Amino acid sequence: MAITLPALPYPEDALAPAISATTLQTHHGKHHKAYVDKTNDAVKDGPLASASLEDIIRAARDKGDKPLFNNAAQAWNHGFYWQSLSPAKQAPSAALADAIGQAFGSIEGLGKELAKQGTAHFASGWVWLVARGNALAVEQTHDAETFADTEARPLLVIDLWEHAYYLDHKNVRPDYLKQVIADHLAWDFASRNFEASGTWTYPAMQLTSA
Ligand code: MN
Repeated sequence: MAITLPALPYPEDALAPAISATTLQTHHGKHHKAYVDKTNDAVKDGPLASASLEDIIRAARDKGDKPLFNNAAQAWNHGFYWQSLSPAKQAPSAALADAIGQAFGSIEGLGKELAKQGTAHFASGWVWLVARGNALAVEQTHDAETFADTEARPLLVIDLWEHAYYLDHKNVRPDYLKQVIADHLAWDFASRNFEASGTWTYPAMQLTSA
């Protein structure tokens, strides 16, 4: 069994104009696929050949294998990112809305914090909504760094690498963030993650897209 490239959970043009079909074709079909392929290449002849992506990430972190960690964590982060986006506008569950109110005052307050940290982030990385117990925080990770294997549970993520927005928004990352935060965050997914006891796991058995 190898790590798979999960299909996008919506059509490629479903997030336009915030994120175009052209961006998704490259971002999912080339960037995410390359992280998956490189992870599989690195583990194929060793003890991690049939491990879950989460176990590969943990093992790579433990032994300080930075190339494997980078590819495996990027594969995971992208699987989580596609699920964090929604074609239609959604709202958090009552339980998540309550926690958002406590941490940020309101959903608008949370949106402002995501935009602020996402804009301020230097170079490549990710901005996350995470939960520690029931307490929420907005936090950034650099490069491939992930919450896949941490005690803090990720609820949703926005990709801040230039490949996520450059074709649609050129260098203007705040415009990408503004449109994604306003209309395309998958609050159903975030709510399920908030109410779950553990962290979302990368899909284990799906067909690899061509
Ligand atoms: Mn990306």
